[in-house]
Parts: sequence; structure tokens; C-alpha cells
Amino acid sequence: MNSSDPPQNIVILTANLSKVFVREGVEVQAFGNVTLEIPHGQMLAIMGPSGSGKSTLLHVIGGIEPASTGEIWFEGRQLSTLNDLELTLLRRRRIGFVFQSFNLVPTMDVVDNVTLPLILDGIPQRDAVPRALECLQRVEMSHRLQHLPSQLSGGEQQRVAIARALVINPALVLADEPTGNLDSAKGRDITSLLRDVAHEDHQTVVVVTHDIRVASQADRLIVLLDGHMCFDGKPSTDAEWMAALRLEIDT
Ligand code: ADP
Ligand code: MG
Repeated sequence: MNSSDPPQNIVILTANLSKVFVREGVEVQAFGNVTLEIPHGQMLAIMGPSGSGKSTLLHVIGGIEPASTGEIWFEGRQLSTLNDLELTLLRRRRIGFVFQSFNLVPTMDVVDNVTLPLILDGIPQRDAVPRALECLQRVEMSHRLQHLPSQLSGGEQQRVAIARALVINPALVLADEPTGNLDSAKGRDITSLLRDVAHEDHQTVVVVTHDIRVASQADRLIVLLDGHMCFDGKPSTDAEWMAALRLEIDT
């Protein structure tokens, strides 16, 4: 494959991707042999038991950690050919991360948390604030602008974290168990928000989840078992199908 090959509508292309950690001299493969094409505007869910490599795959796709073998192309650029600065800028400008634990800055109010990625990129406050307000409106948090994270519910904090991921207008949103700390109604809200981000705003969304109710909202599901992709297709809530993939309704 040639680095100039990937078609225009593909945001992420991976070829035989693997990640091996060395712990106390012992090699641990987090995942192996992952070959994927993720098109523009797709909502892709990743499921699998704990320890099956989901978070590591998300980090490698997002350029947070290097792959051990294989290649990744992000919007046609081969990640392994980028230097540290290019990779940092790509992450900062093209990828929005949403973490299970929100990772909001506790001493900053909602607006400052959401403008932060723009300020870090040198965008002046007067331009950053209107963009933050727009994103906060998008996630229905316009009524909590001056609140600190500690004054918000878990669902509200997660909405702010999503606004912060969206404020850079990323090509790719990566979310690691974003509904993991939320009750099921709030989890549903976050899921439909991520779905809108993909389908209305045409941003690509990759969401790691342990919840088939979240995954069943996605266009596509990948299941990892012991670091290997054992399913890639339409999600289903069929009990037999789920049992075969060791997926449970409530884990
Ligand atoms: P999941 O998100 O599916 O629970 P992870 O991607 O966190 O799985 O982990 C996959 C495997 O890689 C596990 O065996 C885990 O212990 C190992 N692993 C993850 N991160 C590291 C690390 N930084 N150092 C060593 N091993 C790691
Ligand atoms: Mg994980």
C-alpha cells in the first residue's frame, strides 16, 4: 500500500496494526492485526471484555501512543512519518477526545474548560469564546456557563467534555466509555448526541463502550476478543449473537 493511496472519504485507515507492551521483560499484546477503514461521518462502536485492547486501540488510532507494528493513515497522512510537533498539532487540531472520567479542569468554569483547546492552539479569547458558546449550545449546556465542574452532574460534565472535544471542529471524535459513569437515561442522551455529531455534523465518531445499548445506536460495531477483531459489522441485540461474541447486556 502506498501512503498516497487512501481514498478521500476515509478518515482512518489501518493496516495490520498491533500494539505490544513490555512489562517486567514480558511482552503483552494489547491488540494485533487490526486492519480497518473508517469513513467520514461514521459512528463506530468498539466492544469487548475488559482487557481486550479497546482503550489501547483508541489511543493508537488517536496518535497518543505509537503502534508496535503496522501503519495508520489519518486523512491520508501516515502517522509514523510525522515528527513530534506534526503529531501534536494533528491531535490538537483534528482529533477530539472524550474520556470516561471527563478530565475537566476543576478550577476552570465551563466556558474556560471548553475554550482551553483553542487557547492552547494560540486562538485569541475573543474568537475562542463564541466557538465555545456554540458548542455548549449544541450539547444543551448554555445554562451552566459559569459553573465549575464540581457544581455539575456527571451527565452535565460529560456534555461539557464533549463540547470541549467538538470545539476544535475535529475530523475524528474518540470517546472511551463516555457513558460508563452515567445512569442509563443520561447514557442514552450522550449516545444520541454522539450519533448526531456523526450524522448531522459529519464528524467521524469512534466510541468504546461496554453497553450494547450504546453500540446498537452505532452504524458499525467492532468486537475485540483478546486483542483480535472477531466481528466487524452491523450491531445487533440478538441474544444468541451477543453470547457468541461474549457480549453481555449489563456488564
Ligand atoms: P480495555 O480497554 O479493553 O479494557 P486495554 O487496552 O486497557 O483494554 O488493555 C489491553 C491489554 O494491554 C491489557 O492486558 C492491559 O493490561 C495491557 N496494557 C494496557 N496499557 C498498558 C501499559 N501502559 N503497559 C503495559 N500493559 C498495558
Ligand atoms: Mg479501557
